[in-house]
Amino acid sequence: MLNAVQALDRLREGNRRFYVNEPTSPFDSTLVRREQLLSGQEPFAVILGCSDSRVPAELVFDQGFGDLFVIRVAGNIVAPSQVGSVEFAASRFGTRLVVVMGHSHCGAVIATLEELQGRANTHFWNLRSIVKRVRPSVETVFAARGAGDPELLLRDAVRANVRASANQLRSGSELLEHLIHEDGLVVVGAEYSLETGVVEFFDGVPDAS
Ligand SMILES: [Zn+2]
Repeated sequence: MLNAVQALDRLREGNRRFYVNEPTSPFDSTLVRREQLLSGQEPFAVILGCSDSRVPAELVFDQGFGDLFVIRVAGNIVAPSQVGSVEFAASRFGTRLVVVMGHSHCGAVIATLEELQGRANTHFWNLRSIVKRVRPSVETVFAARGAGDPELLLRDAVRANVRASANQLRSGSELLEHLIHEDGLVVVGAEYSLETGVVEFFDGVPDAS
């Protein structure tokens, strides 16, 4: 199993292939590869990303079958089932890198900002349960910045939401805390740009040593 720094390098290399438009992942998605995986899996990274159809984790990191353990939920929020999924991958497969990945133009963050500005149409309780989880971090950004420049507000809100989810994973589970302190598990925050295809890792990134 790759350690966190090695896993991060592999994601960065894959994302680079993706954004310069030279992906290679079909070579990792062959019938032979699928057959190899019948006996088990060793995903080298966990990605907690948004359900947005424009942000498929395997494609933006140019990875194939068996490479990534992906959890997708609108707004890349952390609820108990997301924590449990990360615990499962980290303890069962020994995966040592967890990436919380938000993205530009995130609809869940936009819906939360609309609610804060009194323009919400999130009347459905289950959808509100997502907005409720996004809201605290976005609210802090909104309070500090005010409506101001809507693009900057959204950018900061997306990043605040990523940081909040990453912190929840770091401190919301005894098992994950133990693995972080004793066994090299690393949780990083990242943002995918719909405009450029680049994933920027901006929170909790370990030194290369
Ligand atoms: Zn989104």
